[in-house]
Amino acid sequence: MDQEKKQTKCNIHQILNNNLLLFEENNIQTKICSICAKQLTQNFNKIIELDEFIYANDDHIFSSFPPLEDDNIYKTIQKLQIKKGSSIEEIFVEKINNYFLSLKKEINQKIDVLHNQVKSQLIQIRDYKQNQGDIFLDFYNEISSKFDIQRLYSQYSKDSEQRLKEIIQEKYQNIKKNTENLQKNISEYQAIINKINLKNAVEIQQKILGLLDQINFFEKSFIEDVEFEKSKSYLSSQNLEIQRLQNRQLQINQSRDGNGVSYANFILDPNKKYIFRVKLQTNSQSNSFLVVGIIQEQDKDNKQLQDGICYNERGNCMTIKKIVKGNNVFEGQKTNIDKEIEMRIHLAQKMIKVANYPNYENVAELENKDLILQNTQYRLAVELHFSVHKIIITHLSTVDEFDQQM
Ligand SMILES: [Zn+2]
Repeated sequence: MDQEKKQTKCNIHQILNNNLLLFEENNIQTKICSICAKQLTQNFNKIIELDEFIYANDDHIFSSFPPLEDDNIYKTIQKLQIKKGSSIEEIFVEKINNYFLSLKKEINQKIDVLHNQVKSQLIQIRDYKQNQGDIFLDFYNEISSKFDIQRLYSQYSKDSEQRLKEIIQEKYQNIKKNTENLQKNISEYQAIINKINLKNAVEIQQKILGLLDQINFFEKSFIEDVEFEKSKSYLSSQNLEIQRLQNRQLQINQSRDGNGVSYANFILDPNKKYIFRVKLQTNSQSNSFLVVGIIQEQDKDNKQLQDGICYNERGNCMTIKKIVKGNNVFEGQKTNIDKEIEMRIHLAQKMIKVANYPNYENVAELENKDLILQNTQYRLAVELHFSVHKIIITHLSTVDEFDQQM
């Protein structure tokens, strides 16, 4: 249809085109001018420009049409940004691409800002400007008589031999003094060099990398589906309190002091590779008896976990203690321990390891792998005693392959 023919002028307001649709239930005007429309209704969201209909493509969603009982639906549909002809896969790919682009951009910006801040701090610290390396080397060159010896060799004469011998003998005479002075100079140099401390920065770097590893778009952690149960007859297990936190993690603590075992509501598949992360908190009680491990199906309701295959924050009564990397994972008897550990389990390979998380600095494994019996059913389990202690299960997932972190 010709655009000219569609446009009709209002009979009353002759300068205006009848370019609107008014669609109130009892007041439908298919071609009306804006002044007439506003006189006929206060309900402006029942007015649409005809052009919006005429030029609407396949993807276009109107803001108020067709009439619906809930006006929020228009906005909901618009937000979904549904595109004609794009597959769900494309939508996922686009979302994931956008996420990583923005992650990269924001991290880069943040790093640049921090880098510049640190550089400007450095400029303000005058001490670091002095050339401590030169001071050290000048001293070394002096006590080694490096240049005298050089000169004697380059202009070698009869006298040179005698003079060289004297210089070297003199070094022996001053051996004590030179050693002491050189050590003093090394210490001074090291003290200045060590004023820049990368330990904290490297730790944070490890944490960030660990956190990045946790990015997951497809919810592979099944912590939400797992429940923990109380051992039915082992000591004070029935006094345990197990609660689901707001972030879906599971917190287990004792309501009053006494040993209690809690175990997962499923049996470990020996062929699966599990990653199990647990926070351990001692709060004010230094007897850090916090035990994490696997318990045999037949023992789960009547035995202690420390008899089985376990890690114990206190450092004793445990079997997962052979150091693979770094130092011990456990900190021993300490108040205010607040840490997270990761346990990796692959029963078919008789593999069970534990590491501090997220930096994997220290890694330990089962000392005697034959403790893991074949054709035996195991469950994840924890044991604790003191009511101020807390065990929080933060993550549980299976992976196709373990990464190289531990
Ligand atoms: Zn009019």
